[in-house]
Amino acid sequence: MFDQGFMIAWCVVSASLFAAGWWFRDRVWRSGCRRLDARTEETFQGPSELEAVFERWVEHVETIRREQILARHITEEMVRQSRRILDALEDPVVVIDGDGVVLEHNATAATLVGLEGNSSTDRIGLGDLVRNPVAMREILELARGLASDCPGTRRVNFSTTGESDMVVRDFEVSLRRLDDAGRILLVLHDTTREREIARLKSEFVAKASHELRTPLSSIRATLEMLETGDLEDPDHRREMMAIASEESDRLARMVDDMLDISRIEAGVARPRIERIDLGDLVDETVDGLRATAQKRSIDLRVLSGQGGLEVEGDRVMLATVVTNLVGNALKYVPEGERVTIEVAPEDLTRSVVVTVTDTGLGIPEEDLPRIFEKFYRVSRYERKAQGTGLGLDLCRNIVERVHQGRIGVDSRVGEGARFWFGVPASFASSMAA
Ligand code: ADP
Repeated sequence: MFDQGFMIAWCVVSASLFAAGWWFRDRVWRSGCRRLDARTEETFQGPSELEAVFERWVEHVETIRREQILARHITEEMVRQSRRILDALEDPVVVIDGDGVVLEHNATAATLVGLEGNSSTDRIGLGDLVRNPVAMREILELARGLASDCPGTRRVNFSTTGESDMVVRDFEVSLRRLDDAGRILLVLHDTTREREIARLKSEFVAKASHELRTPLSSIRATLEMLETGDLEDPDHRREMMAIASEESDRLARMVDDMLDISRIEAGVARPRIERIDLGDLVDETVDGLRATAQKRSIDLRVLSGQGGLEVEGDRVMLATVVTNLVGNALKYVPEGERVTIEVAPEDLTRSVVVTVTDTGLGIPEEDLPRIFEKFYRVSRYERKAQGTGLGLDLCRNIVERVHQGRIGVDSRVGEGARFWFGVPASFASSMAA
C-alpha cells in the first residue's frame, strides 16, 4: 500500500517537475536565446555605432571639400571676369605703390608700352607709360602724398609721343588711394580727341566771328554815312546801299549755312528722305541758274542718262549741293567758258554720280586738300568772287553724313575743276537698266 501510494506521489511530483522544466525551456530559455541571438546579430553582422559616426564624418568632410572646390571655381571665375573687364577698358589702368612701382596693370596699359598678347602678366614701369619727365615727377609726388593717408582724387594732364607711331597724344591721369596698404589706382584717359574737338570749336568760333565781322562792318559804315549825311550824292548813295544789301545777303547766307552745318553735325537735322530721280532734280536746279550763266555768257550744259538715276534722298538738301557746285563753277569760270553737269549711274559703287566740270581757273594743288574745310577759300580768288567758304563744307555734310555718299574734286590750275558727288542708288536692280 505504502509502495503504491509512494509510487503515485513520486509519479505526480516527477510529472510536475517535467512539466515545469518543459515550460521553463519553452518560455524562458527560448526567449533568452532569441534575445541573445538578436544581440549577437547586432554585434557582428551590421555597422557599429563607431563606423556609423565615421561614415557620417567622411560624408561631411566630402561635402565640405565639394563646397570648397565650388567656392574656388566661383572665386576664380569672378577674378577672371574682373580681369576681362579690366583688360577690356579702353583706358590704361595701373596700380602702383607709394614709390611709383607698378604692382598691377591692365592689357591696355601693356599695349600702350608696346607689349603684345596676354601682356597683363608682364611687368611694366610707370616711366614707360608716362613718357613725360615733368608729369612723371608730379605723379610720383602726388602718389607719395596719397599713400601716406591723403584722401581724394588728384589729376595730372600731360602730352606724350607714341613710341611706334610718333603721334603726339594727350592724357589725363587720375590718381586715387586704393586701400590701407597705400596702393594707388592710376587711370590714364586719352584726351587727344576731346582736345582736338575743343580746338576745332574755338577755331570755328574765331573764324565765324571774323567772317561775320567783315559784312557787319560794311553795313555799319553805310548806315553811319547815311546818318551823318555823308551820302548826298544819289549815285554814291545807291552804290553804298547796293553794297550794304549784298553784304546783308552774305551775312544771312553765312548764318543759314552755319545753322545747316551745325544741325547736320549735331545729328539733329531731320531730312525728308524720298525717292528722287537725280536727273530730274539736276535739270530743275540748273534751270534756276541759267539766268546767271547767261549774264556771263557761260555755256551751261546738262548731260543725263535715261533711267537708273533714282536715289533715296532729301530733295531740298540735294538741290543745295547741286546749286553750290554749279554756282561755284559759274563764279570761278571766266566769261564765255563752259560748265557741264553730268548725271550717270555708277555700277561699281552702286550709286548715281553728279559731275560738275568747268573750264575755269582751276584750284592750286596746295589748296585742294583743304577745299572742303569750313571758311576755307583760295586766297588768290577772294577778290574774284564773293563767298562764305562754307558752301563746300555744307555739301560734304549733306552728301556724306545725310546720304552716306561720297564727294570729291580733281583740278589743275588753269585747266578748270571737276567736282563730283555720288549718292547710293535706290535699288541695285536699277543699276542694270
Ligand atoms: P565760297 O562761298 O567761297 O564759294 P565754298 O566752300 O563753296 O565757298 O568754296 C570754297 C573755295 O573753293 C572758294 O572760295 C574757291 O576759292 C574754291 N572753289 C570752289 N569751287 C571752285 C571752282 N569751281 N573753281 C575754282 N575754285 C573753286
